Amino acid sequence: MARIPHIIGGEKITDAERTQPVYNPATGEEQHELSIASAATVEQAIAAAKAALPEWRATSLTKRANVFFNLRQLLKQRSPELAAIITSEHGKVLSDAGGEIARGLENVEFAAGLLHLLKGERDEQVSTGIDVHSVKQPVGVVAAITPFNFPAMVPLWMVCSAIACGNTVVLKPSERDPSASVFIADLFREAGLPDGVLNVVHGDKVAVDTLLDSPDVKAVSFVGSTPIARSIYQRASANGKRVQALGGAKNHMLVMPDADLTVTADAAISAAYGSAGERCMAVSVLVAVGDIADRLIPELKSRIAALKIGDGTDPSSEMGPLISREAKERVESYVAGAEAEGGTVLVDGREASFEGNGFFTGVSLIDNVKTDSKVYLEEIFGPVLAIVRVDSYEEGVKLINEHQYGNGTALFTRDGATARQFEFEVEAGMVGINVPVPVPVGSFSFGGWKDSLFGDAHIYGPESINFYTRSKVVTTRWPNADQSRVDLGFPSYN
Ligand code: NAD
Repeated sequence: MARIPHIIGGEKITDAERTQPVYNPATGEEQHELSIASAATVEQAIAAAKAALPEWRATSLTKRANVFFNLRQLLKQRSPELAAIITSEHGKVLSDAGGEIARGLENVEFAAGLLHLLKGERDEQVSTGIDVHSVKQPVGVVAAITPFNFPAMVPLWMVCSAIACGNTVVLKPSERDPSASVFIADLFREAGLPDGVLNVVHGDKVAVDTLLDSPDVKAVSFVGSTPIARSIYQRASANGKRVQALGGAKNHMLVMPDADLTVTADAAISAAYGSAGERCMAVSVLVAVGDIADRLIPELKSRIAALKIGDGTDPSSEMGPLISREAKERVESYVAGAEAEGGTVLVDGREASFEGNGFFTGVSLIDNVKTDSKVYLEEIFGPVLAIVRVDSYEEGVKLINEHQYGNGTALFTRDGATARQFEFEVEAGMVGINVPVPVPVGSFSFGGWKDSLFGDAHIYGPESINFYTRSKVVTTRWPNADQSRVDLGFPSYN
């Protein structure tokens, strides 16, 4: 069985005291062994990143940008291979893996514009003979810690901007589908990135804690579940680092009685069950206003009946398995408990049958979900769509605003005034108007509110440039000696 290596200073290292299996979720079989890094191995990676920093931050912006232009080309050419890697370890269908790569490419393209992004500001003659300008300089070694559900896109969210800004990186991908990160690091090298600028270490809490505690790591980008995001934020910020820690979600889709039934049903099914619901922007709650639920449910059920669930490598599959057996059991336990909590299970995903030992579950649709139930309150992270019925728009918005999470949300309506009001008052970081999964394009930044993000910087896009740089303001004058004199007063400009 092949052992997946760390990449430290350009070297592939497979030795490890501990290893862990990586599964193919569609078959349930172990396909690789993963080296789990000790603290010493992570420290080696941090040292490699630190050693590469002086040269990389001094590398011209044009040369840096060229790495991203080359990487864009390579990623496009090799996208089918990367998609196959994603599908084999994550389970999502190949077309979805291709979509993830396409979205990740937006971050490569954004980074390729680094000459524009890193421009400082300049004011001439703020006082007689005095000019002021600002520059953006790298923060140093950056730790990037990523979740399993987007094994290519989320690493690209972080490493592109971090590297573009002149930092060096230690990437710790999810231990459940780590090969995409190794593939991407290889492509970066082929694109001309010097060794040591992007290092990859695999591991668990030991590896992460070593990154959080190292005085040489200056900034931490994390994406994962809320309890871990909160603890990462607390530990890294207590250690004096910049942190952005993006957490879990429970995204509500508010459907007004005037919404188009076909558009809404197509969107709800796609957003709830795409990638088996393992997206932080998946719609997991459909809030139905007035009588729309009764009209919408037959539309949802007919679409569910036609869904094809199977191995992600089969082009006819629309949805693949879950990431692990534990995830399958966890998701199914919510469906099992739904009726006791007052819900009505309209479609029970546990009843679907699949051949083999893959981590498959069917999709579930639960009506009349109560807002004090676990199905409503907790992130299930599987193909389960809860319907909550409300009498009015106001009641629907109140639910969204009172929920613990505030990642994304969507409104389905034909009425512009309702849409405008929703945009104005809803408490979530990313809002879709008739768009069910409003992941911002790469020229904007991504981030939720409330327990969906700890820290004050959203990820990728313009906010990432601020996060990964320190600004320096330089005040300059070139006086003649005959104009100079001693003056103990506080300098003022006039
Ligand atoms: P996770 O929190 O289990 O793991 C995320 C990362 O943290 C992994 O690299 C993992 O190895 C590491 N980790 C796990 N336990 C740790 C611990 N005790 N101490 C330190 N590090 C630890 O998340 P996951 O299951 O891989 O991913 C799914 C979660 O990520 C969902 O909650 C989903 O909503 C969230 N997510 C959020 C966003 C977002 O942008 N807000 C995007 C994608 C995924």
